[in-house]
Amino acid sequence: MVWLKEEIASKKILVVGAGGIGCELLKNLILAGFLDLTVIDLDTIDVSNLNRQFLFQKQHVGKSKSLIAKESVLKLTHAGREVSIDARMCSIFLPEFSVPWIKQFSIILNALDNVSARNHVNRLALAADIPLVESGTAGYSGESSVIKKGLSPCYECSERPRNKTYPGCTIRNTPSEPIHCIVWAKFLFSQLFGEPDDEQEVSPDAADPELANGEAAENKGNIKRINTTVWAEENDWDPKILFNKFFKEDINSLLSMSKLWEKEGRKKPSALDYDEIIGCGDGHATGSKMELRTLRAWHKAVTDAKTRRKRDGHLSWDKDDTDAMMFVAAAANIRCGIFKIEQKTEWKVKEMAGNIIPAIATANAVIAAIVCLQAVKILKNNIKKTKEVSLRVQPASHYILAASTFAERNPTCVVCAEKPTVTIMLDTKKVKDISNIFIQLKKFTLKDLREKICQKKLSMNEPDVEKDGNIILSSDEDDLDEVLLAKTLSEVGVGHGSILTAEDFQQEFKLTIHVEHVEELPEVDGQNELEFRISGQEKAEATISSQAEEVSVGKKRALSEKIGNEPAAKVQKIMDHLDLDEDEIICTDDIIC
Ligand SMILES: [Zn+2]
Repeated sequence: MVWLKEEIASKKILVVGAGGIGCELLKNLILAGFLDLTVIDLDTIDVSNLNRQFLFQKQHVGKSKSLIAKESVLKLTHAGREVSIDARMCSIFLPEFSVPWIKQFSIILNALDNVSARNHVNRLALAADIPLVESGTAGYSGESSVIKKGLSPCYECSERPRNKTYPGCTIRNTPSEPIHCIVWAKFLFSQLFGEPDDEQEVSPDAADPELANGEAAENKGNIKRINTTVWAEENDWDPKILFNKFFKEDINSLLSMSKLWEKEGRKKPSALDYDEIIGCGDGHATGSKMELRTLRAWHKAVTDAKTRRKRDGHLSWDKDDTDAMMFVAAAANIRCGIFKIEQKTEWKVKEMAGNIIPAIATANAVIAAIVCLQAVKILKNNIKKTKEVSLRVQPASHYILAASTFAERNPTCVVCAEKPTVTIMLDTKKVKDISNIFIQLKKFTLKDLREKICQKKLSMNEPDVEKDGNIILSSDEDDLDEVLLAKTLSEVGVGHGSILTAEDFQQEFKLTIHVEHVEELPEVDGQNELEFRISGQEKAEATISSQAEEVSVGKKRALSEKIGNEPAAKVQKIMDHLDLDEDEIICTDDIIC
């Protein structure tokens, strides 16, 4: 096996990520005899990493993960061995990490903790035709698999389950579970102390579909829509004023929407009054013990957050931020009390709000060992024999580690299909703006096409979009002027039946987009709060054939077919569960991998 030793020593390996799995992996690679590594990680070391990222110690807190990881593993190398580690503290999204750059490596090993970076590396690896070993852990479970163009499914072949989200009107009007109040409290924290975000509105929603139109219209004149952030600042975040606004006036507004409370089994909320609870300072408090306790917690949490907001500027919600957590626990429990929902302990609120999955050093170590073995197997020219390996706590078989051969590729995958194609259904002229208290019509602009569709949904980094050979959206910053970006799709000639080509030069990724104009999107799961819907290749093909018979192009059409493509049957990867968009309602722990 001398030749294998030489192969290992001579090949260049790229490791993306130097966190939980990355640290273990770098150590394994060096001890296995790899001599030429490049490691990229943007992060700095946090004290919370030290319990499982063993290349880091207390004195390294605040320093670059990739640089310290390099320093630490070099101490493990045998004397006389010339090891080269190119450690970079930067983002894998930088343009310099292009497909030609990736081609210098024999294998790419991902040790990442987020879906957008995984998608990006997946595309780079496919375009460069370099084997990629994926990995991830969640608590005691983990996965590792090899991705190779034309041979295996790619990372994006299977659709990832989304984190559970809740309809805005349930959060704002009719909560019935503790989690609804916790999500509302997180929104409230951001509204009061963070950057203003219309999508995290907390006031009663008069556009609730449960309200008859008449009632919504009646109320329209009565409820004054105010900007919560500005209003709170003007009132100097006074805990009493804030309390009476959110737990008295807003609750009374909800009670005035009588239609909301006609539904059988739904409990009416009871408004609270700050002075009544504490007894106007005359010592005769009328609030229950629980109300007094939560009010005191509210007072302290608002005061503490206000001090920080004034000192540090806008705050962002973080489950590890004690002030933010105390605020969310207090506000959620007050709201739970108002809606007669079971209240939760601060720890439980933290667990629910942070969606915490523990990071286990042992699981990382097992998966990192498998990643290293996958790399050796690839160098032995046995890539076809590599397996998808799962680490399971309660396996169906009696093996904790289960291995399976490559799953089927998804022929409709938007990334690795022969000709990646999607259909986008949207109102190319106007859409409902669901963020406001009353439904308003808002334009869907080129900026939305770029940011919401190409970047967020299709994971492109710097998209160019063409229609009939003309560029309608350029990746060149100089071409992105505000006037152009503010145009609606119809204003740049995009309508029902338009075929667009979206391309990302860095990823060497090209995608055909079929546009289907609808004035109203079909409901899914009883909800219809989306601006657009994207479906895969099968839908695109159906659209093309149906267009020939389409008589009234652009008219509202009934769509009874199932929306969305069905990915090829595939064992759902545990690591997919970790990958949550940054702005999902429930955030995830970034310390999983
Ligand atoms: Zn794929």
